[in-house]
Amino acid sequence: MAISRFLGTDKSQKRLEKIKSTTQLNAVEFGLLNCVIGRATFPGTTPFPTESQTKAILDILPPMDYHHSVHAPYRISATSNDPKKLKFSKSNLSATLKTADYLQAKHVTFHAGSFKQAKYDSSHVQLILKEWEDWRQSKEFKAKLAPEVGGKTNSFADFFTLAEIASGIDNMLITWDISHDFARGGNITSEDGILKRLEILDESFELHEQNRLPVHFSGIIVGRTGEKHHTLLDHDTGVPWKLVFSVIKEQRYLNKLNLICESKVPKRQEKTLKGNAITDAIRVYDFLNSDEVIKAYKGKPSMLDYYFND
Ligand SMILES: [Zn+2]
Repeated sequence: MAISRFLGTDKSQKRLEKIKSTTQLNAVEFGLLNCVIGRATFPGTTPFPTESQTKAILDILPPMDYHHSVHAPYRISATSNDPKKLKFSKSNLSATLKTADYLQAKHVTFHAGSFKQAKYDSSHVQLILKEWEDWRQSKEFKAKLAPEVGGKTNSFADFFTLAEIASGIDNMLITWDISHDFARGGNITSEDGILKRLEILDESFELHEQNRLPVHFSGIIVGRTGEKHHTLLDHDTGVPWKLVFSVIKEQRYLNKLNLICESKVPKRQEKTLKGNAITDAIRVYDFLNSDEVIKAYKGKPSMLDYYFND
């Protein structure tokens, strides 16, 4: 759910109460997506929430009962070479980490940035991420950094590149967004491809119940350059979520992961699509608690072609 300086509003209160009343769910990611500091406010941005507003969340969703995490603003970028942009990114990351620590959040998810082309040099990003991690530790922020697998083919980065970089930096995690992985053409439509990823996670991170890897899922509409936008899991988005979660369950990997649903109804489809992140999270919860085992991807290639040609 999104938070802003206006947490006291009835709407926020209602959403928090809704999550609380949904007994199946115990992980919440707070989105600071449009929050910004260090620049004059421009349309669509909002200030970071205050300490007391953030902590008020814990009265409703106590940290002993919920896994809290935070999604950093979109404006953070580690791919830039411009010192001003990097400084701006770091100051916003600083405000994000502060908010995360108020929430006793375990990790901060952020997009590492994008490149003009789909082919990129990762060494620059590696240096920046290492520098941010050293700085995070020197400031004694507790929430870990978890750069996210990007959904667009030119966004940094794919699963393997990101895992390799993060595994070389002490205490860094990644956020494995399975829908992004799928959207950029990652092979998670086969059992082999999913097992390969779990193997890499085992080699790269020491995951356990107290150090969980954030995993995102949602419906996603895919075009020629990867992710177009998030939607609901339902029917025809092609995201192989049942196969992925089936393998994860079979491998007894669930207690190493923090599953976060990012489904949403796209703008202008409110009348035709019914549901939200909570209803989709419950679908996955029900699937994980069922005996259903999925061994093969059931999406039709023709259906994917439709999206990839779009
Ligand atoms: Zn995500």
